[in-house]
Amino acid sequence: MKIKHKGELIDITIQKRNRKTMELQVTLEGNVRILAPKNISDDDIQNWVRSRGDWVVSKMKYFQDIKEQYTDKQFKVGEQLYFLGKPYTLNIFFCDHENKVELTDNEIQVYTKSEEKEVVRETLRNWYFNQTHKLIEERIRYFQKYFKEQPTKIMVKEQKKRWGSCTSQNALYFNWRISMAPKEVLEYLVVHEMCHLKHKNHGKNFWNCVATILPDFKWRRDWLKVNGIKLNF
Ligand SMILES: [Zn+2]
Repeated sequence: MKIKHKGELIDITIQKRNRKTMELQVTLEGNVRILAPKNISDDDIQNWVRSRGDWVVSKMKYFQDIKEQYTDKQFKVGEQLYFLGKPYTLNIFFCDHENKVELTDNEIQVYTKSEEKEVVRETLRNWYFNQTHKLIEERIRYFQKYFKEQPTKIMVKEQKKRWGSCTSQNALYFNWRISMAPKEVLEYLVVHEMCHLKHKNHGKNFWNCVATILPDFKWRRDWLKVNGIKLNF
């Protein structure tokens, strides 16, 4: 359901459940989710959201601002980038060979022919793609001992809204940005998607599978929920 409030479009997902009260959630992606009792009409839900329109729009803007703040990188010397949860200062060197990235104790160094923003960005993005792929494959090999099922494919992709996914054919896809997160969080994502090899939903058996392998998975999952939006460019 979509409604307009003072010129802003609010995209609402309604989930009807066995409950007595309504609950409104604004997600990091700026989506609005309503948990509603089963017997309530769509009209009533619309009116209820409308009466909270200002608040909803202000929260959507809040997330939008954070997103822009972290997305709006200039790719200039001195900027900060994260790799495996640790901040590195961007440094740029000119060279006439192929572009590459090197990591020191505290610097992420881009070697490039051109300081143009798009060139530096692409060089870094390729580097993150490769790092993520290596790290994910290594962790999948490590956790394979817990599973009979094997992934049919492991791919790192550009994904705007998701961190990972598992298809019905057991192909696993991962967002290239996940290597910006701490190692424990990347590890959680791997275990999460591998548990989908066995369980294709987020039911009780699925979460048992995650908890058996990573008993402390909750803080890792929450870290991604809270900080995921910052892992971007
Ligand atoms: Zn899942």
